[in-house]
Amino acid sequence: MKPKSSTVKPGTESPLRVLVADDEPAIREAYRQVFGEADLRADLDAIQDLRAKLFNKTAATGGGAVRRRTFEAMICSSAAEVVAAVGEAVATGNPYPVVFLDMRMPPGEDGAWAASRIRDLDPDAEIVICTAYSDVDPANIGGHVPPQDKISFLQKPFHPHEVRQMAVALYSKWRAERHIARLAYFDSLTGLPNREHSMSRLETVLQLGGASKQSTALLYIDLDNFKRINDTLGHSAGDELLKQSAARLREALESLAGGGAHRPGAGDLGRLGGDEFIAILPELATREAASAAADAIIIALQHPVKLGHHEIVVTPSVGIAISPDDGTDAATLLHNSDLAMYFSKRRGHGAWAFYDATMSDGALRRLTLEGKLRGALDRQEFGLHYQPQFELVSGALSGFEALLRWTHPELGSVPVLEFIEIAEDTGLIVPIGEWVLRTACAQARQWRDQGLPFGRISVNVSGTQFLQRDFPELVARVLHESGLEPKWIELEITETVVMRDEAWAEKALASLRAVGVTLAIDDFGIGYSSLGRLRHLAVDRLKVDRSFVSNLESEVRDRSIASAIIKMSRTLGIGVVAEGVETFNQMLYLQEQECESAQGYLFSRPLPTADAEVLLRRVAANVDLSRTERLRHLAAETPSEATKG
Ligand code: C2E
Ligand code: MG
Ligand code: MG
Repeated sequence: MKPKSSTVKPGTESPLRVLVADDEPAIREAYRQVFGEADLRADLDAIQDLRAKLFNKTAATGGGAVRRRTFEAMICSSAAEVVAAVGEAVATGNPYPVVFLDMRMPPGEDGAWAASRIRDLDPDAEIVICTAYSDVDPANIGGHVPPQDKISFLQKPFHPHEVRQMAVALYSKWRAERHIARLAYFDSLTGLPNREHSMSRLETVLQLGGASKQSTALLYIDLDNFKRINDTLGHSAGDELLKQSAARLREALESLAGGGAHRPGAGDLGRLGGDEFIAILPELATREAASAAADAIIIALQHPVKLGHHEIVVTPSVGIAISPDDGTDAATLLHNSDLAMYFSKRRGHGAWAFYDATMSDGALRRLTLEGKLRGALDRQEFGLHYQPQFELVSGALSGFEALLRWTHPELGSVPVLEFIEIAEDTGLIVPIGEWVLRTACAQARQWRDQGLPFGRISVNVSGTQFLQRDFPELVARVLHESGLEPKWIELEITETVVMRDEAWAEKALASLRAVGVTLAIDDFGIGYSSLGRLRHLAVDRLKVDRSFVSNLESEVRDRSIASAIIKMSRTLGIGVVAEGVETFNQMLYLQEQECESAQGYLFSRPLPTADAEVLLRRVAANVDLSRTERLRHLAAETPSEATKG
């Protein structure tokens, strides 16, 4: 039997929809009358009164001003029927706020069964259990059909006012909760589903798609240069731009040709936050369809947007990831579409890209660093730390190595080895290296002027810099400008760079020597340079690579290489520094081998300028101590990079 719907004369407000189930015809008739009475005036005061009590609102409006509430009741005669009605209402997006269920509806399923099925279909429905029996324990059903505060009880025989009051009160509660949920799940600026809501929608779509072996495409949309517009025109202009962009995105998706394929609705668009949106395209037949959607989005945003007196053109960058190939869960698909967007943006604005496996987090990090590295000099994000070197015979400070540090406002401090490589690949190392040299010279000059005995400052030179034909001239110029005598600066060039172009190295080292700086070969030992080759080079010092020093105690082979390098430097009459000395035993071994000097965490981490200065003042005060006392002193007292706040 088809459920009968009884509609009442329309009031000033749309009728309150209630759903009722009872197996007794007489009671159904009673409901029909309760919800069907034309003149509800008599109830209104009572309802108002109840609202006041329930929601703490004043009933000040008075009888006359109260709006007239009418009902539209759908009345069913069995549990199965009422469950079907709820399912249909939810599917059509028009759920029932309040459902009255008879507790006992023989034969077959009863009210408790219906309540739990309804709860599965519609978690928000207010369910009222009606019973003539006093043996029903509300807590019992509430426990099975959570949440308990969405289950109410009504004792039969009921009074018509009571039923109506209940319907109205529960409806108000339902509506208030929906409003709060809207605030929680929708973005207030654009009205689009927010991140949370979009993600749960995506998860649902993926589950359905997975079950039916359908692909879902996810488009990650990010406006290019939004931040700049926001910064230059102000936040309200930025907000307006986002609103207009959201509206255009919605139109673009709605206007995508149907042609039997899925036609995404506005519900498939969401705002993740800021200037980032996603579009979910379920049941997608082809990659072409996904890229066509991306094209439509790009075209829709292409027309200038009017913001006050300004006409602005925004382009979006779009990344596309398609399930199941690019991910079967929402988080993975989102992540991969985000990566694809990022790569697309890097290649040029206003374009789209499909995700592919080469787009890894590592590759993205590199791209990000590269982007941020440009301009880091202008933003003064670089600094130098100074790691001291000590003579192992006397314990005296012999110099400092200047080590580059980069602190980005968002990325924090970026490991030097990570960004140096990028700086080399992009050529950015040339201006950065020049800055390092200039800064180290200025620092040396300042310490000289203060009479602080720093020995020398070594500056690392990258291969790219060293291979520049005018590098020696640059060094001469920078030194000249700083007013520092060249002998206070040492340049470190790694062994592998020297070996890459030996003819040039020989010439360049000679020119640098002529400028007056001293020269060290860094990370020595790993390139296996021969003694014979070294003879031709104008080199003042070798730096034994840290890898040999760390293995002094465990690897016989490394120990022999380290002592061979030390001996070789003695034979050539040049200095030697052991890098990366971390333990007392390593130091003792190096002393035994008569290694000239050492550098490492045992003595000191690289220090910020102020701490290096503290060390310099202490060194100046400790000149009279014995060698071991001096080294112990330094090892114990040097402020370390790691302990700096
Ligand atoms: P490097 O020139 O061999 O510098 C020594 C590195 O070893 C520094 O790492 C230093 O902090 C670290 N170190 C020193 N003592 C110890 C120790 O006892 N144990 C351990 N585990 N490590 C120690 P950092 O500062 O991370 O620099 C790494 C590399 O980056 C440098 O190796 C150098 O090749 C390069 N670099 C640093 N600054 C510059 C620069 O201004 N220009 C260029 N081109 N390269 C630079
Ligand atoms: Mg070095
Ligand atoms: Mg080194």
